[in-house]
Amino acid sequence: MRRSLVVGNWKMNGSKAFVEQLVGGMVGVLSNAQVDIAVCPTYVHIPQTLTACAGSAISVGAQDCSHVSSGAYTGEVSAPMLRDLGCQWVILGHSERRQYHDEQNALVGAKLTAAVESGLLPILCVGETLEQREGGEAQAVVASQLEGSLRDQVSLAGLVVAYEPVWAIGTGLTASPEQAQEMHAFIRQSLENIPGLDAAATRLLYGGSVKGANAGELFSQADIDGALVGGAALDASEFLAIVNAAC
Ligand code: PEP
Repeated sequence: MRRSLVVGNWKMNGSKAFVEQLVGGMVGVLSNAQVDIAVCPTYVHIPQTLTACAGSAISVGAQDCSHVSSGAYTGEVSAPMLRDLGCQWVILGHSERRQYHDEQNALVGAKLTAAVESGLLPILCVGETLEQREGGEAQAVVASQLEGSLRDQVSLAGLVVAYEPVWAIGTGLTASPEQAQEMHAFIRQSLENIPGLDAAATRLLYGGSVKGANAGELFSQADIDGALVGGAALDASEFLAIVNAAC
């Protein structure tokens, strides 16, 4: 039985006051949650978020990490640093990193190695663009993203995969529950070919305009084990509604 997981990706949003208000609106309510819950603020808001979430059911992650642990990499933040702060999770290979920072599967794989070695739980994002879906390439794209970053990993302990069709991120368009389930089943099947991974036990999240109103139907699908939430994670009541739908 896979335990549900709901992760909020705050992207490049927030301020000290915003974080205080957002987390303050969730911690008390979520103290006895039956699902795993995490939020991923910007790097600069991680310490404040960790303090605000201390003792609650909410764990904290980062939105990215470096592929190396230290050194002359100006502007980078490493996995050991995040773990040292108290982060548990790291999102890797988000489509915005792939699009705006030209992150390729090999680099995502190197970041994943660094994350696992540091004890962070990686959330690997995969997903096709609209053009790729319309061209009938969706499964091939996702398969190559999985293969390109998971093959040759020594350990994949705690890996979570998030299927995020690029055309559904921040657009208000959501994959239908059936479309999402079809891809999740394909992902689970593909993971069976990755050495060292228990595909049946691996949690698969759906991401792309998830809200309180559509979460329940998505979570009722056999291979959808939770959500990676962007926009709706910036609103405490929406995020709580998604968490409740996963309970
Ligand atoms: C995301 O960026 O991970 C995401 C799913 O965003 P949104 O929920 O806003 O589509």
